[in-house]
Amino acid sequence: MEKSTDTTHILVVDEEKDIRDRSKRILSKIGFQVMTASRAEEALDLLEREKPSIVFLDLKMIGMGGMEVLEQVRKIDETILVIIITEYAKIKLAIKAVKQGAYDFILKPFEPDQMHIVINRACEKIRLIYEAEKLERKRIRSLLDLGYDKSHIHTIFESFPMGAMLTNTDGQLVLMNSAFRQLFDLSPDLKPDSQIEDYVSDKGLCDLVKDISQGKYIDHNDIPDYELNLSDKKYFLAKAQPVLDGKQKCLGTVVNVMDISNMKVLDQLKSEFVAKVSHELRSPLSTIHEQLALVIKNMAGEASTDDQHILTRAKEKTQGLISLIGDLLDLSRIEEGIICHEPKPVKLEEILENIVDFLKTRADGKKQSLTLDFINTPLPLMVADPIALESIFGNLISNAINYTQDGGKITVRADLSGINIKVQVIDNGFGIEDRHLENIFERFYRIKNEKTRYITGTGLGLPIVEELTKSLGGLIDVKSNPGRGSTFTVLLPIK
Ligand code: ADP
Repeated sequence: MEKSTDTTHILVVDEEKDIRDRSKRILSKIGFQVMTASRAEEALDLLEREKPSIVFLDLKMIGMGGMEVLEQVRKIDETILVIIITEYAKIKLAIKAVKQGAYDFILKPFEPDQMHIVINRACEKIRLIYEAEKLERKRIRSLLDLGYDKSHIHTIFESFPMGAMLTNTDGQLVLMNSAFRQLFDLSPDLKPDSQIEDYVSDKGLCDLVKDISQGKYIDHNDIPDYELNLSDKKYFLAKAQPVLDGKQKCLGTVVNVMDISNMKVLDQLKSEFVAKVSHELRSPLSTIHEQLALVIKNMAGEASTDDQHILTRAKEKTQGLISLIGDLLDLSRIEEGIICHEPKPVKLEEILENIVDFLKTRADGKKQSLTLDFINTPLPLMVADPIALESIFGNLISNAINYTQDGGKITVRADLSGINIKVQVIDNGFGIEDRHLENIFERFYRIKNEKTRYITGTGLGLPIVEELTKSLGGLIDVKSNPGRGSTFTVLLPIK
């Protein structure tokens, strides 16, 4: 029960009328409401009905003695403060009463000042009891809130259709939902309180979660999505984010896991379909292309200019379609992991020289300078698939020629950079606006403007380059300045 701070109700129990009246006078003067009783029974009755907070009690009474009354008061309400009124001769009894629960005593005959001191002390005591109770109530409420919050988080976690888990900064799994247990085949009895490795067998995901928890990712947008392949048919996508407190301090990591096995199957079906259709289209298109070339050659000088124009356009269009089909087949092969399956020691300088030799005629046709710049030669031997390397740099140099004006300058620079070989294809051509930069590695993305209008392409070159670079364990980056040129940088690990 909430205790009131109202200390205004006081009961004075004394056989002597003088003492009762005197006490009432002194206490009423300083604002208290005072009830009096001359006998124990009367006092107990008032106690039950009026609930005073302080009782002045004379120990010497006929019938039920003061000590018994004290016992009864304590039974009715322990928080009522009892102040014993006694004579000096009975001081020992008063001390005994204090030992049995009375709060204080006052000696008869007392002066108003003495009574003031005693009553003030008692009021202060009541105030402190009230404050302590208030704090206790607050503590209980925060514990309840905490429990409520916890059950809230549990409910939210449980309601996620995808797998969800939470780890602390030590990499200990502290919460997981049933969807997560199902995805990772964990028993419902398994408690979430050990290291993440005890629940997730994929080392890469465990490392990523620990890196995040230890604050290794300063920019949270840099945290990569993580794909796990648990068995032949089980593919999951995990998205992890740090849990931060109000001061941006990392408290742990939350991970959502999605089952993407069906998407993978669909993706594979799509790749197989594209590969099959492309394959079927390639030979008839090549035949049409060769036959058109033959007709143009045979009709040279005989056909009208219009006819010649139509045939030449048709030949160019079939060439475009053949390139598109070639790119689609390349992408399908990369997706199936076929293209990078034959790594061998290669001299990158030789590969780059061959590509530049091959494309030189095209650059010459546009009066562009195409030069090689090898720094720190000879570069160390690389272990990689040479066809993949040819495709990467063939595409980049070919793009540099395509998207640089006549008379422009293209440099292919190779250098050693730590444990990587760094190759840069630098041109002073059209450049790429910032808004396009993040999209040019998407499939079929082409920038359409006045300068690129008449340049044919498929929009598949850079996606192929990016996929191949990744499959060699490398990285690609582009910096560009519209109107001033672009630099594509490829970092490839030596081994
Ligand atoms: P494609 O060249 O077949 O259009 P890519 O995927 O190779 O396809 O390139 C995508 C787009 O990126 C191109 O259409 C072009 O607009 C832009 N691009 C690529 N390389 C360069 C470059 N060196 N300079 C300027 N723009 C470029």
